[in-house]
Amino acid sequence: MFLETQGLKDLQTLVSMSKQRGFVYQSSEIYGGLNSCWDYGPLGAQLKMNIKRAWWETMTRRRDVVGLDAAILMHPTVWKASGHVDNFSDPMVDCRSCKARHRADHLESNVCPNCGSKDLTEPRSFNLMFKTHMGPVEDEGSVVYMRPETAQGIFVNFENVQSSMRRKLPFGIAQIGKSFRNEITPGNFIFRTREFEQMEMQYFVTPGEDDKFYDQWKEWRMQFYRNIGINEKNLRFKPHGLDELAHYAKAAEDIQYLFPMGWSELEGIHNRTNFDLSQHAKFSGKKIEYFDEAKKEKYVPYVIETAVGCDRLVLAALCDAYTEEQVGEGDTRTVLKFHPRLAPVKAAVLPLSKKEPLIEVADKIFATLSESVETQYDESGSIGKRYRRQDEIGTPFCVTVDFDTLEDKQVTVRSRDSMAQERISIDQLSRYVNDKILAKL
Ligand code: ATP
Repeated sequence: MFLETQGLKDLQTLVSMSKQRGFVYQSSEIYGGLNSCWDYGPLGAQLKMNIKRAWWETMTRRRDVVGLDAAILMHPTVWKASGHVDNFSDPMVDCRSCKARHRADHLESNVCPNCGSKDLTEPRSFNLMFKTHMGPVEDEGSVVYMRPETAQGIFVNFENVQSSMRRKLPFGIAQIGKSFRNEITPGNFIFRTREFEQMEMQYFVTPGEDDKFYDQWKEWRMQFYRNIGINEKNLRFKPHGLDELAHYAKAAEDIQYLFPMGWSELEGIHNRTNFDLSQHAKFSGKKIEYFDEAKKEKYVPYVIETAVGCDRLVLAALCDAYTEEQVGEGDTRTVLKFHPRLAPVKAAVLPLSKKEPLIEVADKIFATLSESVETQYDESGSIGKRYRRQDEIGTPFCVTVDFDTLEDKQVTVRSRDSMAQERISIDQLSRYVNDKILAKL
């Protein structure tokens, strides 16, 4: 049906579209913006919410995973124990010519990517944690950190969760929340920012079972991306080499997505061993152990971690959905082909005329659909233009109310991707839309 189809060519197209359509705006734009900070507009906020909900439900509706919502500010010793105070740093170099600042490990050679100069400073270690002060006195004793990862909130609550929820190994704790890293070179839109949201799950296992669950979680996590409609061709695993492993990890692998700037990390899957729980036991002076009733022994569990950036997944979902289709001679439509579960607006109610009897029916349909899904109402412009507006924000179903509706109590449902139209009885409409949203691919 389509003469030609093409995906996203460059990130800039997405940045402009995101602003125009209400997905993402630059933060504090009227003041000239704040580097690497972005605000989600009405559609972006809903998209992000849908992504978080898909992740949260996938995790916590398993029998072996529970949720948690820990505070951003934690006792400062947490970050000594975790190794962040000593090790959470990147090597930074400055270009003496143009003054640009770079991550030394991101440079392909010792050349400034900004101006081509070879006159760079020696790499210096730069700690990525944001510091602030708790209470009125700003001295060394009042320093607290904005958490650079959500994981530590899970580790320090291991015993609380295990005992209050009467959990036996293996079990996981899932959490969604903001993290902060004073990145040296943020960029690529919402790919790398200094304030971002993470969706992390720590799965506690008996030592010796860690390799098995590491492989298992890799599979489960890839399945998640398939279930939310991310194109498999744009996803791949990328194991870390031994020299790339973080200080706590026995094994690590990234799930990468093919962003317009190339393959880049979307999610990290790590075998963190018993490093974190042992460190917290050491620094807090409290034993953190699990009593295995079957084995009649105590031990420190191993941890398999899955960690994905919510904003990065929003970016991947936008890139993946973006399509330009030539639908006729000289006629191109832009359409965001989100899985219906992710689409910020699920249905649009479009009365063919502004005449009273039609509006009355359309209002009722809007009210009924809105009870279960995000619905827009649009009565302005030609029906063709209204369809295109919905295509551009990725609405999977357009519901047209016409004069026949008054007689036969049916509406025309037009599907975003195929543009096919079918008549559906008003009584069946909510059911029809909801079934499609829940459908797995
Ligand atoms: P990178 O190598 O890209 O700096 P990382 O390996 O340090 O990332 P992790 O600590 O494993 O990342 O964090 C888990 C996930 O959190 C990443 O896969 C990514 O999706 C997300 N994330 C990490 N840093 C940022 C950031 N600055 N902005 C947005 N998302 C981030």
